[in-house]
Amino acid sequence: MRAYFRNIYAAVSTILIGMRITFKEMFHPSVTNQYPYQYYFEKRKNVRGIHKGFRGQLYIRMEDCIGCKKCAMICPVDCIYIETSRLEKGITLSDTRAVVRLKDQTVWIGELLEGDEKIEPGTVVKLRDLDGNLHESPSEHVEHVVTSKKRRLKLDRFDIDMSLCMFCGLCTEVCSTSCLYMTQTHEFSTYDRASLLFHFADPSIYEGLTPDETETKAEDGADASEGRKQKAARRRQREETA
Ligand code: SF4
Ligand code: SF4
Repeated sequence: MRAYFRNIYAAVSTILIGMRITFKEMFHPSVTNQYPYQYYFEKRKNVRGIHKGFRGQLYIRMEDCIGCKKCAMICPVDCIYIETSRLEKGITLSDTRAVVRLKDQTVWIGELLEGDEKIEPGTVVKLRDLDGNLHESPSEHVEHVVTSKKRRLKLDRFDIDMSLCMFCGLCTEVCSTSCLYMTQTHEFSTYDRASLLFHFADPSIYEGLTPDETETKAEDGADASEGRKQKAARRRQREETA
């Protein structure tokens, strides 16, 4: 019998507590935003922006991609399609740009003047960006440094099917040059699934590139000396085991 009345008391008191909160909130201004009308058309100031770490549509800086395919390999749903080919002998592409990402998600892209991928505590990371501005930060504030890498492959295809992507961000984490990243774009819905297959490969990057004679000779020389070194090492190994 006691339990019966205790349950009635608990039910009534919790309803009253809930009603008290509801009644109090009735006199507060509304915090609900009518998206997208208030966001775009009324431009209401109290509408929250998109936070910095938001995982939106994927984008890639093609001129910094080295075609390593790490992103495609790690993608859990296999929605990144990459095809590469070798460049004509002697053709060299510009190296990729360095990237520094701070813990507050600020990103600098350009030429690394000080610092390394192994972020040593107590040091300074310094970078000159594409507009010539100098940025520096104590290593304690730096989350990630990616140094410049050689580009040796031509990207014939780089497609991402955003209709399959589950926005896990793994591809951006493993990217060798940090050229693949998630933007804040979140409004790209469409009535046609096929239009969610984004093509990023850009043949114009490779236009007008001609083999550099000195480069070709240098490469040939490097190949030959490398081959000679390997042969000598193999011979030494055979002699040691004999
Ligand atoms: S974010 Fe999308 S494309 Fe990248 S690994 Fe995850 S599912 Fe694949
Ligand atoms: S991991 Fe980065 S550099 Fe490698 S292929 Fe993918 S986007 Fe290009």
